[in-house]
Amino acid sequence: MKKADRKYWDPRMETLSLEEIRLLQEKQLKKKVEFVYNKSLFYRKKFDAIGLRPEDIQTLEDITKIPTTNKTDLRAMVGRCLEEGKKPYAEILAVPEEQIASIHATSGTTGIPFSVPLTVAELTDRGFVFTGEFLARNYWAAGLRPGDIMAYMWNLGGAMVGGGNHIISQGACSPASFLTLLPCHVGRTDFVLRTMKEVGATAVHCTPSYATYIPEYAEKMGFDLKGLKIKIIVTAGEPGPASVPGLRAKLEEAWGAKVFDTYGAQAAILPYECEFHTGFHVQSDINILEIIDPETRQPVPPGQYGTIVGTTLSEFGEAFPHLRFDTEDRGALLYDECPCGRTHPRLASVPGRWDDMIKVKGYQLHPNNVEKVVGETPGCTGEFFIIVDRDDLGKDSVLIRVEYEPSVSDVKEFQSRLQHLIRKAITLKADIEMVPKGSLGGEVFKKRRIIDIRTEEAKKKFETAIKQAAQRGIVKPG
Ligand SMILES: [Zn+2]
Repeated sequence: MKKADRKYWDPRMETLSLEEIRLLQEKQLKKKVEFVYNKSLFYRKKFDAIGLRPEDIQTLEDITKIPTTNKTDLRAMVGRCLEEGKKPYAEILAVPEEQIASIHATSGTTGIPFSVPLTVAELTDRGFVFTGEFLARNYWAAGLRPGDIMAYMWNLGGAMVGGGNHIISQGACSPASFLTLLPCHVGRTDFVLRTMKEVGATAVHCTPSYATYIPEYAEKMGFDLKGLKIKIIVTAGEPGPASVPGLRAKLEEAWGAKVFDTYGAQAAILPYECEFHTGFHVQSDINILEIIDPETRQPVPPGQYGTIVGTTLSEFGEAFPHLRFDTEDRGALLYDECPCGRTHPRLASVPGRWDDMIKVKGYQLHPNNVEKVVGETPGCTGEFFIIVDRDDLGKDSVLIRVEYEPSVSDVKEFQSRLQHLIRKAITLKADIEMVPKGSLGGEVFKKRRIIDIRTEEAKKKFETAIKQAAQRGIVKPG
């Protein structure tokens, strides 16, 4: 069969039975655990702390014995490394330093800067073949075929999903893939539009925001967007059409093209949508995704929502490996058959991080913005939570409780300084209340940065939870 007539990019791998996937994952997991334990001090310390040995991981189910890692752990690791005068990734690094070929700084969506090193292998043939392969599955499922030209709208210096836009762009046009790539620098939209027209681009790869912005820009400039040959838009990098209501229809109308979303996070290798938009197909032969309960940390049944935890099985990310990385994103895994015939489980559309974005007074409030200020201001312990309430007149109010260190002598002065910084960061009026270290119960509220009590029911539930926590001595009442 000619390549373009194939239904799937990789018919064998994309239609493995669930049992075949399981066996493959089990074999790869054992290899990965062995590698990571022996090469990465960060993971070895995690294993040793609970007396876990690589040989304790024999079956896929054993994966739950491995402690999860989240951004807070990585941030602490970076802090330790810098304090010791080492490279920020020195502790997690699983290859000798001289094998690092490039370093990709990413601010990430949480505002925590990471430097992700990539090895020579990841940046040359082997890495490109691998990356090209998993990107090709995504683009093929979206309906792209050899001869299509994709305008790739990312700034190549930065990193996307911890892997580097550079490597992704190189992979997308590597011999392992089939596309013709048109790398476009974000920010020069007039130039991008002109180039897309000249070369006859048929697809666009960008963030949902940029895909929204371009049609607005084109209209303002009198540029006929539908006069282009664009037939497919693939979005990535932010919550997109799969989770934002109405966005797909809006983009499809504006571009006159079909829109496909992808899910991206560190440790999740590009789950993608097929033409049925039944969720994101997971690339299970190179990636284990689990859904766990954010509180109990136990696996949840198929179809139930929880926190997405990812393990990369491949050699991709060999320098900076991910083993049970807790993305803190919400998702569910679906195992029922997709009409497209692909057998890998699907990730149900992700309505945002557990504690992400909430609309207050018509504005978006991101706890990440508060987290950044609190994390960077000496005198704060890093603990805080945001209470969104509604007054009798129906107006939203925001109160942010922030813990301060015992070393803070003038609490009033500190509060007014912090209030200024936080208001600037969230561009919303918010009251700041300072509470002494230990008042917020650390671990208990870590996953819940925002408490929305704008309904009576939510308010009652919250008050009961606080009372119970206070009885157990976890939080101080107040
Ligand atoms: Zn499908």
